[in-house]
Amino acid sequence: MARRKKIYEGKAKILYEGPEPGTLVQYFKDDATAFNAEKRDVIDGKGVLNNRLSEFFMTGLNTIGVPTHFIRRLNMREQLVRAVEIIPLEVVVRNVAAGSISKRLGIEEGTPMPRPIVEFYFKDDDLGDPIVSEEHIIAFQWATQQDLDDMIALALRVNDFMSGCMLSVGIQLVDFKIEVGRIFEGDYQRLVVADEISPDSCRLWDVKTGQKLDKDVFRRDLGNLADAYTEVARRLGVLPQTATPMTKPTLIN
Ligand code: UDP
Repeated sequence: MARRKKIYEGKAKILYEGPEPGTLVQYFKDDATAFNAEKRDVIDGKGVLNNRLSEFFMTGLNTIGVPTHFIRRLNMREQLVRAVEIIPLEVVVRNVAAGSISKRLGIEEGTPMPRPIVEFYFKDDDLGDPIVSEEHIIAFQWATQQDLDDMIALALRVNDFMSGCMLSVGIQLVDFKIEVGRIFEGDYQRLVVADEISPDSCRLWDVKTGQKLDKDVFRRDLGNLADAYTEVARRLGVLPQTATPMTKPTLIN
């Protein structure tokens, strides 16, 4: 196969030049990192699972009219996506307190939020992705007020969709992170969900047992990460050979 030009290599993914202008190939690696890459490991099969799971969520979002960069999955580890200009912010939505908000504000993990909370973090590894306010974002021109309004609306729609998807398979969506990109069409730009949506970027707790099914399994040494992600994929029917059949409804008393 012809060698493709590598555009960018991150901690969990590589971006290659796509087959047509305006496209990229996104390759999912097995590398897992946490705490700004201080903790790292290679988890067999993680890339394959995240490729499939991100396809599942992005396809669902596209179907309900939430624009994403996703075009189609190419193979086990790669997907074709639209090239976007990434806004240098991580957009986090929280439904339940966990992780950094619990530490920062002293809120016990597991406390429900009064309403979904949207936060912004400046994407800069050297600074450890610090939380920033809308004032910072506009003053330093990382995004405009219109971009911010659009990003919040996008993030809340993703939250509603993902919360519903997860609840239907007995999982609570505690929080998640998305990245947003700009696509230019003539004189116009629009914002789309970019990067990935996978258990690497969400907190997912089993509704009944509270078992963690996300990257905290790796961050906090709670067991096998690939097993946790496989369980999410199996419940969602993303792994057909082991999936619970969705076609035969059973009556519950
Ligand atoms: N998150 C992420 N990438 C980051 C930081 C956070 O995907 O660089 C996700 C994380 O998995 C969680 C949510 O964003 O689902 C909120 O993370 P938090 O701010 O609590 O930080 P953490 O405790 O993960 O450091």
